[in-house]
Amino acid sequence: MKQLQQILSSIDGKGYKSYKQLQGKHFNFPDFELYVHYIQGDPFAAPSQLAVRVYQDRAGFPEESYQPPIRETALSDYLTRIFHRNIKKFARGSRGSGKSGSFQIDRPGQEVLERTSMTINEKYVEARFFVGMPAAGRRVLGREAAEMLTEELPKLVKSSLLYSALPGKELFNHVYTVEDQEVMRNRLSEKGLVAFIADGSILPRRSGVDQRPLPADKAVAFQAPSDLEVEMDRPHSGKVRGMGIPEGVTLIVGGGYHGKSTLLRALEQSVYNHIPEDGRENVVSDPAAFKIRAEDGRRVEKVNISPFISNLPFGQDTSRFSSDEASGSTSQAANIIEALEAGGRVLLMDEDTSATNFMIRDMRMQLLVAKDREPITPFIDRIEQLYRDLGVSTILVIGGAGDYFDVANNVIMMHVYSPAVVTGEAREISRLHPSGRRQETGDKFGEIRDRVPQAGSFNPYKGRKIKVKAQGVDNLQFGKDDIDLHQVEQIMDPSQTRAVGDVICYALREKMIDGNKTLAEITGEIDSLIDREGLEAISPNPKQPRGDYARPRALEIAAAINRLRTLKVETK
Ligand code: ADP
Ligand code: MG
Repeated sequence: MKQLQQILSSIDGKGYKSYKQLQGKHFNFPDFELYVHYIQGDPFAAPSQLAVRVYQDRAGFPEESYQPPIRETALSDYLTRIFHRNIKKFARGSRGSGKSGSFQIDRPGQEVLERTSMTINEKYVEARFFVGMPAAGRRVLGREAAEMLTEELPKLVKSSLLYSALPGKELFNHVYTVEDQEVMRNRLSEKGLVAFIADGSILPRRSGVDQRPLPADKAVAFQAPSDLEVEMDRPHSGKVRGMGIPEGVTLIVGGGYHGKSTLLRALEQSVYNHIPEDGRENVVSDPAAFKIRAEDGRRVEKVNISPFISNLPFGQDTSRFSSDEASGSTSQAANIIEALEAGGRVLLMDEDTSATNFMIRDMRMQLLVAKDREPITPFIDRIEQLYRDLGVSTILVIGGAGDYFDVANNVIMMHVYSPAVVTGEAREISRLHPSGRRQETGDKFGEIRDRVPQAGSFNPYKGRKIKVKAQGVDNLQFGKDDIDLHQVEQIMDPSQTRAVGDVICYALREKMIDGNKTLAEITGEIDSLIDREGLEAISPNPKQPRGDYARPRALEIAAAINRLRTLKVETK
């Protein structure tokens, strides 16, 4: 610490570049070690990357707070939130030009994701954060830097990273709430379920930009209908009752504005764990549930969409369908096939965001436009095969297309935000009022063909530098291109987007994308790498482990690669 103070006072008033001598060094403080991984080039550039490590003899976290690994994820998330809160409390904030004087740490939302902002193990707890090294113009403010690193930082560490300083009950509640969700999610499949929503859950959010729950006095709490009521066992909080959605085909029906999409949205997001008090901390869905929607304008590269679309005019091949600007129906077909290729097990769809001609062709249309004049095989004719042949379930919000009653295993009606089971009524209506439509398919779904990405079609460079950068949640700059992720709705956090970008770079650098491996093999290898070595393994520079990654699923990594406009694949 003395050494750090000396360096800072010796460079006070000098050019900003003199901060660089701190890079790669580490300093011993009474309670912790400070690592300076990266120093920014100027006060306006991306901030410097630092880390503090507190050894467990000081930090004192009991083993049961971070083992098994799901607890490490939960505790890391908790400590990141605390650290973030304490920055506001103990750091003075902006002082000087540009980002001068600021401390930052990754900021989790309602989800509890595996992150690199914090690591905890039997030896130490380590926080990775960002600092704007202070300057006046481009001159070093040595005294301010010393104030930040030798006065404020120790307060931050003391208040955030020592077990004795933290509210133990709240901490363990956070950890156990997360572990309960993980366990419930892992038990879904043995119970034949694809999702579970506990009684009392609050599903609606405050707004599109505020993901906190709608306040209790404005929200109708979820209450399971008795026909789908199941009980789940949680390791820490005991039994809980709620609605189990069985495998197969499930429809969510009901009048407009009665909470259908809100329920579906909760299922989409409950592939992730949520924080206590989120309202969805007892909602879990299959870890491989994937939101499907129409996405006209997206690029598609050699996807076998022939289960849904064939016989295009002029004999275009739909078993290797490519398009720079897919239509509503072809994009939705490609989204489904790609999800299946990447390991998707449950498809989540909302009629609102689907292409009508992809979803349904009713009797009258079948009579007017004969099958041999219609390339599209509507989803209704494949939905049962998907389950029977491939074991893939679908949860579908339907407001208008009653023909789907014929193919549903379960029908849930939302009325004033409360669910009721109406499967029997829907069957009876099917019987009394036949849709009259004919099934327009062969009796097999068909194979999902593997695709092999070609390394040469990825170019992360812009000029002579690699330029791969998350811009918010929804856009990933990749070299000269942008990967548009707006419609990949289960990417929730900009740190996931950032990780997706660096995962792709990693796969290129390490020759995982080698012209032989299939896309599914590549994303599978990435998943095992992260399981084995942690998420920081994807950092471009191992000496500068980044603290701002959150883990994306293989499904989202594949989705991003599939949306790269330059992507070329070979099909097997
Ligand atoms: P639908 O898809 O059936 O048209 P939405 O799910 O979009 O309906 O919900 C309509 C509105 O009702 C939204 O503003 C939503 O926030 C609100 N809402 C949804 N569920 C609840 C609930 N359980 N309690 C209170 N408001 C809700
Ligand atoms: Mg809706």
